[in-house]
Amino acid sequence: MAGRRRLAEYQAKRDFTKTGEPKGESGGAGSGDQFVVQRHRARRRHYDLRLELDGVLVSWAVPKGPTLDPDVRRMAVHVEDHPREYAGFEGVIPSGEYGGGDVIVWDRGTWAPAETDDPGKAIENGNLHFDLFGEKLVGRFVLVRKGRGESEAGKEQWLLLHKHDEYAQRGWDPEEHPASVKSGRTNEEVAADPDATWHSDRPAAEAEVRTRPEGPTSAELAALDALGAKGTWNFGGHRLALTNLDKVLFPAAGGHPAITKRELIAYYATVGPVMLPYLADRPLNTHRFPDGIGKPGFWQKEAPGHAPKWLRQWHYDAAGEGETQCYVVPDSPAALAWLANYGALELHAWTSKVPDVEHPTWLLFDIDPGPKTEADDLLLLARLHRTALDHLGLRGKPKVTGQRGIQVWVPIEPRYTYAETRAWAETVSRTIGRTVPELVSWEWHRDKREGLARLDYTQNVINKTLVAPYSVRPRPGAPVSVPLDWDELDDPDLRPDRWTIHTVAERLRHQGDPFAELLGAGQRLPEL
Ligand code: MN
Repeated sequence: MAGRRRLAEYQAKRDFTKTGEPKGESGGAGSGDQFVVQRHRARRRHYDLRLELDGVLVSWAVPKGPTLDPDVRRMAVHVEDHPREYAGFEGVIPSGEYGGGDVIVWDRGTWAPAETDDPGKAIENGNLHFDLFGEKLVGRFVLVRKGRGESEAGKEQWLLLHKHDEYAQRGWDPEEHPASVKSGRTNEEVAADPDATWHSDRPAAEAEVRTRPEGPTSAELAALDALGAKGTWNFGGHRLALTNLDKVLFPAAGGHPAITKRELIAYYATVGPVMLPYLADRPLNTHRFPDGIGKPGFWQKEAPGHAPKWLRQWHYDAAGEGETQCYVVPDSPAALAWLANYGALELHAWTSKVPDVEHPTWLLFDIDPGPKTEADDLLLLARLHRTALDHLGLRGKPKVTGQRGIQVWVPIEPRYTYAETRAWAETVSRTIGRTVPELVSWEWHRDKREGLARLDYTQNVINKTLVAPYSVRPRPGAPVSVPLDWDELDDPDLRPDRWTIHTVAERLRHQGDPFAELLGAGQRLPEL
């Protein structure tokens, strides 16, 4: 049928010579009835209306978008069918590739042909009546071909209109409803921080590349809540044996509520997709508090022998005798949930990646306040780092530690040794310190610092433990180390321990992850 012919057209536009694997499955088992409208900013912005039929997505590009307004006819260009796998796609198509731009799932639902039981034939005949049951689009629509003529691009021009029915709304404008029904985000927001990319030169089943792993679904979180004191949690394709879920790890104190291990596991599973880019491929040092923060914690680096096989590990070949041999390298939200169950409350990742662990990808400034360091002094010291980085033409951003301090993270190319980055950071830190000698001490020992702050460049060392972005800290209320935008330093409510495991998700929804734009932005360090 026409659909299959057109899918062949889609495939012909792409280069399948790179792989001999099967192309998009056409006419597979079970014919679905889903529809999707994707708002697509490519060379020109348009809305792609796609109806699932005979195993493919029959598609029209509607430049001004579909409307519920029954007095408006919209031009719709009949474009080639897309594979069914594309229906849920939301993200970025790399520029230079077919359809390069950004895509959101603007509406979706089910559809049903009307006044015909052979919609394929109706499309061939150039006149399809159909009902949509979407979140935005509802009611009876008509697609009608404008004669047999094709546009100069070789595409048929059709008209899309909404019938006068109970769902019709005069003046309804799709541009006034810009958010994705999948994520709640706009095209602009998705473009800035996509969850996935689509590569149409690949077989349909492999065309979508997730750029971040999935956190738990609401059903998975409900299942975690429903477990007793222990039980098996199916999450992220793994069966996690969880124990002591109701154990209080953070006792109630100073107005902070008590927090259980179940809540810690839920936090790490949920924040995992955002946090993992800072942990992926990096050996992990964990600060464990299996009996809660009321008892002393301890550092653990060696991956435990009872760790499940799916938990990624890395053997440090250069480790000396008596040193840690095997490190956990977290690569999924399930791995973080497993670690939380294991009492690994605080996560400290290396600043270098395996296997090239001698060359860090982050350069760090650690502003460690002393007892006499006022909140304003700390902010001043942080802002001086911003000024220094601006002056040097480098990008970097601050992060509150979740305790008292602020760090500044600078993404670098993995081409410098730790000794080189440490020497570079020391030069910058001493230059900053000279401008505010009354605030800074260079004494190694805390007792000799006279209560002043320390600018700790020595953190730029292999296997050093600097708290990871979004790690929990072992303090009442479970504060979290949170990346910031520089302007947030001006917020009068800012405190290094302002955010907790109960408020980070809300912050991420509203502000996103300020460090995301630093990922993959490795820089060269200018000569000083
Ligand atoms: Mn399109």
